[in-house]
Amino acid sequence: MSQISGSRTLHRLVYCSRQKVLPADLEHEVGAIVRASIRNNRDLGLTGLLLAHNGWFLQSLEGGAAAVMTTYRRILDDPRHESSRVISAGPIEKRDFGDWNMCARGMGAADDAILATLSQGGQIECETLTAISALRLLKAVRGIQARTEASALA
Ligand code: FAD
Repeated sequence: MSQISGSRTLHRLVYCSRQKVLPADLEHEVGAIVRASIRNNRDLGLTGLLLAHNGWFLQSLEGGAAAVMTTYRRILDDPRHESSRVISAGPIEKRDFGDWNMCARGMGAADDAILATLSQGGQIECETLTAISALRLLKAVRGIQARTEASALA
């Protein structure tokens, strides 16, 4: 987190955390998180993607350094998750998730093949994600989400 500096540069913070939401409530809670995120992130110029998978959240937050850090600190206090771990944080040249003030996605059975490829057959776990593998995963999810949105419009 110490890499976050400068108010005008674009920054990205990626973290993962353990869900503290009953599985039956997950869809409802993620919907509430996305609604609050869109409302707040739009005003702050923040974009990103939230993945809910296998009992954990993985989120990318992109925007000005102050907006990213203020929002991440607020998210840390949220009782719907715990044990947050910053995977990467620092300046970036361009946004990778600029299409969404926040978009959330759970991975369905049809997406499992993609996860299996990304994890080389093993289970993707929050604890073992690196800066590179987390971003690769989020970009893959971005691709799935973009295709889903395109087919919904067709
Ligand atoms: P809320 O409790 O949502 O609302 C506060 C005020 O806004 C109240 O006065 C209420 O009346 C008013 N309000 C509520 N709904 C509306 C509405 N539809 N229109 C107008 N006013 C309304 N939060 C983010 O902001 N960005 C994120 O990227 C983000 N990511 C998250 C990721 C995870 C894994 C988790 C667990 C949470 C995340 N959150 C995120 C949620 C965050 O933790 C806070 O719950 C949220 O930011 C609080 O938003 P709020 O201050 O608007 O409070």
